[in-house]
Amino acid sequence: MAARIIDGAAIAAEVRAEIAARVRAHIEAGHPRPKLVAVLVGDDPASQSYVRGKTTGCAEAGMDSDTVLLPASAAHAEVLATVERLNADASVSGILVQLPLPPQVDEQAIVRAIEPRKDVDGLHPYNLGLLLAGQPYTVPATPLGVQQLLLRTGNSPEGKRVVIVGRSLLVGRPLAALLSNKAEGANATVTLAHTGTRDLAKVTREAEILVVAAGRPRMVDASMVRPGTVVIDVGINRVADPSRKSGSRLVGDVDYASVAEVASAITPVPGGVGPMTVAMVIANTLRAAGG
Ligand code: NDP
Repeated sequence: MAARIIDGAAIAAEVRAEIAARVRAHIEAGHPRPKLVAVLVGDDPASQSYVRGKTTGCAEAGMDSDTVLLPASAAHAEVLATVERLNADASVSGILVQLPLPPQVDEQAIVRAIEPRKDVDGLHPYNLGLLLAGQPYTVPATPLGVQQLLLRTGNSPEGKRVVIVGRSLLVGRPLAALLSNKAEGANATVTLAHTGTRDLAKVTREAEILVVAAGRPRMVDASMVRPGTVVIDVGINRVADPSRKSGSRLVGDVDYASVAEVASAITPVPGGVGPMTVAMVIANTLRAAGG
């Protein structure tokens, strides 16, 4: 069986067009133009590229966006003061602090300092708590993107057995909460696997929907996937590739070539979950503005 490719880039474009229409309606109804401000500390190229994707995406959807750049040497107090200034600025509807932060900055304290209604990453403990309580408000972008990919390709998780590999606060845990909530488009039976899981392959083979977010290049191969499974690969790993001019390329956590032979549908890397994460940050910005 050759899997259907879940085209995250095309679905993200569809989502972004919907958001742009909602932004127009929001402004026509007399509301101020939503505005996202990203805080970028340091000059890590990957972080720069992620922030650019999100701010450009907001601009394309008709929202304002700005980036506060701080040096890699910025003190914790300086980052905190920036967040507090943005919290108090009524023209700012959404704040995004690009993670990771340098070691001298207490990352968790910075996330906790963001006004929860402006927290477009959905990582403030208040927002994570609401998600766990079954009353989601702002949900982290990657889990939301995974759910939308499933729903928009006719692979609703309702009633299905979902296995998620990886229990990070950014991806695995909020996704487990989201998909196990008693709600339309969720209502799945979820297993959360991690490095403490015994016989991981036995667990992943039970999945009807398998989501892998482990940060381990190609760790899931065909032997770990039951025929007909829908496979969502969240992983983004840079690996050496001497055949490329850049000397490297991006691969997922799933061995795409072998798993595509057994899965019923699969996301590519790049072009799968990544573009959906960006689209969901943009959606969260509109939501933070009350749209
Ligand atoms: P973390 O490193 O924070 O978490 C990885 C999780 O995977 C941990 O829970 C870890 O278990 C588990 N894990 C690692 N190795 C194994 C293994 N061999 N068997 C079972 N479980 C394992 O990563 P993130 O969640 O932040 O990111 C995961 C991947 O997703 C990365 O490649 C990242 O780049 C990518 N990513 C992609 C996004 C997108 O938009 N597409 C957005 C965010 C992340 P334990 O807890 O036991 O250590």
